[in-house]
Amino acid sequence: MKKYDVVVLGGGPGGYSLAGILANNGKSVALIEERDLGGTCVNRGCISTKTLIKSAKVYETIKKSNEFGIYSKNKHFHLPEIQKRRKDNKSLLNTNIENSLLSSNVTIYKEHGEVIESNTIQLENEQIKFEKLVLATGSRNRKLDLPGFEKGISEGKIIDSDKALELEKLPESMTIIGSGPISLEFAYFYSTLGVKITILEARNFMGNFDLDLQKNVKQYLIDRNITIHENARILEYKNNELLVEIDNKIQSFDDEIILVAIGRIANNESFKNLNVELNQNGFVKVNDKMETNVKNVYALGDLTGIMLLSTVAYKTGDIVAKNILNKEINEKINPKFVPWSTYLNPEFSGVGYTEQELINNKIEYNALIIPAKALPRAHADGLDLKNGFVKFLIEKNTNKILGSFMFLKGSHLIINEIAHAMQNNISFDQLQQNSYTHPTIIESIYYATRNLVFKK
Ligand SMILES: Cc1cc2nc3c(=O)[nH]c(=O)nc-3n(C[C@H](O)[C@H](O)[C@H](O)COP(=O)(O)OP(=O)(O)OC[C@H]3O[C@@H](n4cnc5c(N)ncnc54)[C@H](O)[C@@H]3O)c2cc1C
Repeated sequence: MKKYDVVVLGGGPGGYSLAGILANNGKSVALIEERDLGGTCVNRGCISTKTLIKSAKVYETIKKSNEFGIYSKNKHFHLPEIQKRRKDNKSLLNTNIENSLLSSNVTIYKEHGEVIESNTIQLENEQIKFEKLVLATGSRNRKLDLPGFEKGISEGKIIDSDKALELEKLPESMTIIGSGPISLEFAYFYSTLGVKITILEARNFMGNFDLDLQKNVKQYLIDRNITIHENARILEYKNNELLVEIDNKIQSFDDEIILVAIGRIANNESFKNLNVELNQNGFVKVNDKMETNVKNVYALGDLTGIMLLSTVAYKTGDIVAKNILNKEINEKINPKFVPWSTYLNPEFSGVGYTEQELINNKIEYNALIIPAKALPRAHADGLDLKNGFVKFLIEKNTNKILGSFMFLKGSHLIINEIAHAMQNNISFDQLQQNSYTHPTIIESIYYATRNLVFKK
């Protein structure tokens, strides 16, 4: 029976990158992946959605080209070619990951793995042993378990985000259940291609996000003719219709496709025998060193439920690598320092505490908001001046950055600068001492810090 120093179960961004690091540092490593290498991110998530969204953005740019004095007669798209680009990107990345792992001497098992004992994994036709095990099995879409839904799924009318990526024919209309990042990115993509979108949200729209983001993103979507219903309780799917209770009235929605985007659950079934401790939502409990309650068993990425982002999958993998390689662990995952973006056109981004959280926690703060129209570059680039903004939440007495939220092209880059300042305890007024390229959107940091430093 083969024995490895480390077995990594799951080849998503967390698992495959960790396997490479460990093998490059002299460990014998096996990586087990039952689907395609690259996990959710490459095959069904980040890269796939961003590839589709890029096509929508190009289409939008061409449609609006008159605003820039550029005239083009032919403004149409071909969905199968958009899909081909997605599939080509996926295959290319699958191959790149595999080649990189093989050149690092990682042994790849392309099959299902089941942990059967504290040091043994059952593969299809063999067993392998390990000194240390890293659980990197990720997450999958959460289903809505309501009457009629199984039938709707089998008929292809009710889909999840995996299926929403693969539509080869545009539906006329789509109801999207949920208003999180996955819902909104698909709403952007399909509405840009002309699909009539309705969003149904069980509570308030984008409930966990900062209020200014909620307000402005909602307006942006309404401006795109997207209908949004809040406090919508989904009841059942019957006779090709979705029955929903909204404001004590039952309404029916008969859109061609219903996309369920209500969050994700942990893939925690394949290591039941280990008795790894789970939290109440089924995610694996870990300490700051990404160790589970079972000796020599670590967990990372989505499976830990810390934040369901590739950003966190990579970082938690770094911590596991340092732990296994006996290197000093000088980082700790603090979700309040992790920057994130949701990729509409423009994207919106954030880090840290929302204004509501500061109010609830009775923390004294100043909110500094720079509207897009105050940024010269936003005019040059013809950005969304109506809904765009950059917001900084600063602690009153210390000028410490508590949070920042942005709805602006380029915010997916700028937000890293703010997150790094927060992580390194650099106060907001200190950022005024830096120089910023001009004219840029990142100058918004400079404008806001100057307002703070020179305020009477
Ligand atoms: C539509 C969508 C868009 C997204 N966009 C972004 C984005 O823009 N930015 C961002 O940071 N994040 C984004 N994410 C989230 C990101 O994809 C995940 O956070 C990330 O993939 C998690 O990485 P992971 O390694 O923890 O797990 P995963 O990527 O889920 O990988 C786990 C792997 O383990 C395999 N596996 C599970 N069990 C077994 C077993 N028993 N045997 C063998 N193999 C097994 C699975 O097949 C899977 O490949 C998006 C997600 C979705 C769904």
